[in-house]
Amino acid sequence: MSLSCESWSNKIDWDRFCSLDVNLAAHLLWNRLITYFKVTPWYQIVKDYLFLILCYKIVSDLIFNVKCYGPMGYVKRLVHLWIKKTINWLLKSPLLREKVEKQVNDALVSIENDLIKTDPRLPDYVSLPEKGVSQDMVLEQLDQLQTALPHTKWEDGKVSGAVYHGGSKLINLQSQAFEKYCVANQLHPDVFPAVRKMESEVVSMILKMFNAPEGACGTTTSGGTESLLLASLSAKMYGLRHKGIKNPEMIAPITAHAGFDKASYYFGIKMHHVPLNPITFKVDLKRVEKFINKNTVMLCGSVPNFPHGIDDDIVGLGKIAQKHNIPLHVDCCLGSFVVAFAEKAGFTDMPVFDFRVPGVTSISCDTHKYGFAPKGSSVLMYRNEVLRSEQYYINPDWVGGLYGSSTLAGSRPGALVVGCWATMINIGEDGYMKSCRDLINAARKLKNFIETHLSPTLRIIGDPKFSVVAFTSDVIDVYELSDRLAKNGWHLSTLQKPAALHLAVTRLSIDAIDELCELLSRSVNDLLKDPNARPSSTGTSAVYGVAGSVKTTGVADRLIVGFLDSLYKLKPRPNKN
Ligand SMILES: *Cc1c(COP(=O)(O)O)cnc(C)c1O
Repeated sequence: MSLSCESWSNKIDWDRFCSLDVNLAAHLLWNRLITYFKVTPWYQIVKDYLFLILCYKIVSDLIFNVKCYGPMGYVKRLVHLWIKKTINWLLKSPLLREKVEKQVNDALVSIENDLIKTDPRLPDYVSLPEKGVSQDMVLEQLDQLQTALPHTKWEDGKVSGAVYHGGSKLINLQSQAFEKYCVANQLHPDVFPAVRKMESEVVSMILKMFNAPEGACGTTTSGGTESLLLASLSAKMYGLRHKGIKNPEMIAPITAHAGFDKASYYFGIKMHHVPLNPITFKVDLKRVEKFINKNTVMLCGSVPNFPHGIDDDIVGLGKIAQKHNIPLHVDCCLGSFVVAFAEKAGFTDMPVFDFRVPGVTSISCDTHKYGFAPKGSSVLMYRNEVLRSEQYYINPDWVGGLYGSSTLAGSRPGALVVGCWATMINIGEDGYMKSCRDLINAARKLKNFIETHLSPTLRIIGDPKFSVVAFTSDVIDVYELSDRLAKNGWHLSTLQKPAALHLAVTRLSIDAIDELCELLSRSVNDLLKDPNARPSSTGTSAVYGVAGSVKTTGVADRLIVGFLDSLYKLKPRPNKN
């Protein structure tokens, strides 16, 4: 068969055949084009050109979307979008507007009543006091404020995350460090050489913790969000300067921190959210690869992510990043000193996620979380100096002189980096190793308790390896559970899609885990016995309640705006009932 085929094909002069064919086609096309340009008026040509471009854009968008979401997935997205638009339109119609307004207003009243607190014993300063208040009085008033408006009792460890306390002795050390370097400004390293030295040492210590290779570097920032913003900015500028990418896009798991979306919003980088593997709750690598196109400037993953405490497959992401030659950022903001020391602390089931993974180009680590540094400190690391220089702002033309700044802020509080430095050398490797061990063991205790005693009512999300444990339920309303825990002094974080709660274990909560387990048992049993338990109408549950009940982001947006507005209000709005 193959022989006869060969002999048959030998009879044809392929070269001549092909050249003839192509020539003929090209010739015909060329003639057509010439005639088209000869007989068509110029405005029609422009119109046709624009129409062609539009067609090309629509078809290539369609192909990209169908590739990324699958045909059914894409249709679902379109339907979802359409439903959302219709509902938003309905909500604005006179028919429903009043009802929605009332619902939104009620929720805002409850948010503000929750947030805006004052006390008749406290003096109000709506404008500057005409005469300065004496220092003794100021200090007295600070105490009064603390007594009249006490903070949530984080000291018992019943708050998820939020306060990463390293012990009262450490607070004393940090306060002294702060006092000694109160006026220091990193914008002027010539004026404060000691601060420059300490800052460079903080970066170096963190780089070592994350197994950075020769040539790696970094900067300190004001926190995790700034680290994510700068990593994204660097990737965007690298794409522009080295690959000519003018319409940058980035790809992040849906569980990646909102800081990446903030970067997308601030820097005009189009964001693609990738769904998770439904069993492992890690980002779905196949789907990641589908989103990659010529505009992709950055991939990212988290170790672990904030919502569920799950680590994405960084080795897998690294391979994709290398294959397509795209920077990969690993968000270890939350994981920070826990993930860095987990292996050394003796846990054998730990993933590799740091610079040892080829393809990882940057990593963020929050010193102000499990590093126990004062709030306002994080470190962003890069594999090489080229990537770091892409985040720098430089301006050689400013009338105020040659200007350059390495991070988002101009002036920077040197005292904070001094506080961080003092904390890190005081705790040291042995201290962090111990806290890592205690934190992970406490989280595993909670996880095991839920799995053995509260399953299947509560379900652990994925297989959390570090200090955050998230759980959901198909049986009870977890927001109601959250409210009941809050009434007993426990403040877990509420999550959505799916509705879930999580505890980020802190050093303070280690000793309180048993109490939490006991309270969880009791509350879950109460809720099971009381199927009609209504979600209460205050606090976070109200936000999710209203947002969820009308199934529209438009309303949720307004609640968030109302929440942010309330931060600067002196008095809550009156309830118009
Ligand atoms: C906390 C956190 C961040 C950054 O948050 P900041 O509040 O700005 O410090 C980033 N990523 C993850 C996973 C986090 O948990």
